[in-house]
Amino acid sequence: MTKVQEKTTEQQPIKRDYYQLLINGELVDSSDGGRRKVYNPATGEVIAEVAEATKEDADKAIQAARDAFDKGKWKITPTGRRARVLNKIAEIMSSRFKELVELEVLNTGKSVAAAKGQIVQAIEDFEFYAGAIVGHGGSVNNVPGQFHNYSEKEPIGVAAQIVPWNYPLMMTAWKIAPAIAAGCSVIVKPASLTPLTAIVLGEICHEAGVPEGVVNILPGPGSEIGNYLVEHEQVNKVAFTGSTPIGKDIMAKASSTLKRVTLELGGKSPALVFPDADIDAAVDGSIYGIYNNTGQSCDARSRIYIHEDIYDEFIEKFITKTEKMQVGDPFDKGTHMGAIIDQSQLDTVKEYVQSAIDEGAEILTGGKELKPEGFENGFWYAPTVIGNVTQEMRVVQEEIFGPVVVVSKFKDEKEAIALANDTEFGLASTIWTTDGARAKRVANQIQAGIVMINTPFSAFPGTPFGGYKQSGFGRELSIETLDLYSETKSIMSYFGSRPLNPFGL
Ligand code: NAP
Ligand code: MG
Repeated sequence: MTKVQEKTTEQQPIKRDYYQLLINGELVDSSDGGRRKVYNPATGEVIAEVAEATKEDADKAIQAARDAFDKGKWKITPTGRRARVLNKIAEIMSSRFKELVELEVLNTGKSVAAAKGQIVQAIEDFEFYAGAIVGHGGSVNNVPGQFHNYSEKEPIGVAAQIVPWNYPLMMTAWKIAPAIAAGCSVIVKPASLTPLTAIVLGEICHEAGVPEGVVNILPGPGSEIGNYLVEHEQVNKVAFTGSTPIGKDIMAKASSTLKRVTLELGGKSPALVFPDADIDAAVDGSIYGIYNNTGQSCDARSRIYIHEDIYDEFIEKFITKTEKMQVGDPFDKGTHMGAIIDQSQLDTVKEYVQSAIDEGAEILTGGKELKPEGFENGFWYAPTVIGNVTQEMRVVQEEIFGPVVVVSKFKDEKEAIALANDTEFGLASTIWTTDGARAKRVANQIQAGIVMINTPFSAFPGTPFGGYKQSGFGRELSIETLDLYSETKSIMSYFGSRPLNPFGL
């Protein structure tokens, strides 16, 4: 057992052979000594081992988070001082930027360009909440003259935060930053495939001055450890990002303790390309919209609907650019797209593409596994465009989570909106048009938490991120996220000149 301050990231490299659990400010082995191997998806090689938490470890983490919250100083630390610590986290992350990027690329196989963008965003997230928390508070409310009422925001308590593998560090930052800004304690359960940068971020939080027990990082199997946190009565809130079925399961299980729940789930987000669009911009934006992060994004624009008058031109340009995508060495600056996270996800992608073929769709380009030179043992798939699809097909309705996009035509605005909304999901959407009135009209009718107009970028720190329908609820990344880590307390006082005696006794 080592105090994390005595074993900070400053004194040891971020890339190591073995990563421990972070509980109550200490780096510890799992209670039963269990370890799990962690792989580089680009090469299939083992890059490190990580301690795998048991329920006993989870109990310790919950106790630590509870004590930090119930007896510790963090939640009563003035917001300005909490903000200083959040800014310090951002500062340390910036000073270790290169190493963080390297570790993220090694553990995900994503392109270095993608990892850089995401880690810059993770840093800015802490900076955003450092600013936002200072202005976050209650209100003075209208009541009859002799009364005075104000409300206060109090941190909700201990939050379990369950993170997926597609954005390991950025998603962990999205979770930790607002929660600790609000004064909560957290237990982060990273994805088993990608726990490394989350552990390092936990260490950085301590180095920056977050008190022990406020941030705990608990890698371990979701079905055991994740589930245990969700059901535990000492945990007040669960924030989950991941698949819709697990999200539903979590919501059901959290109901027995009436935990606060926020869910950021899957998507099947549309892009609509209108006849008045800047076609080249729409092509470039749509290429990024689907292939960024190897298509493993909850907000991937994985359905493109194109007006029939410009369909042929758009498709020709889109396929040409798809075929220009550089897929391979994640560390090569010229690489556009890295690896798929693991064999199982690769199999899922292959099965979906096969299902499209079986249902009568046409593979316009891609549709095959790749073996980039030097990376033959990794998990790779070609950027893939599927045409001749109908709305009922699985590839049109279900989240694939890979570099696969379906394309089809629409006749008019009404049909475009109907097609966009013809999904159980409602996370994101992009509208490509140069007609401002149309952009606004269509944006108003799309059932999604995020609408992008002439840009593929869905979010910056400060913008609400979250879904409608089966894409979940609650918003991350924005001011309102602070409310989702807070309770509101209403405080009523009476200042009348005569004592109150409502019963007249
Ligand atoms: P997942 O099963 O939903 O896992 C997400 C996180 O939840 C991981 O940390 C996982 O831990 C944990 N978890 C799993 N089962 C749990 C349970 N019963 N209780 C509590 N936590 C649990 O997602 P996945 O298996 O990694 O990916 C499957 C599909 O989910 C993808 O193909 C994609 O469609 C979707 N997905 C969506 C997003 C998104 O951003 N919306 C992100 C990732 C995946 P383990 O890693 O230990 O299993
Ligand atoms: Mg899973």
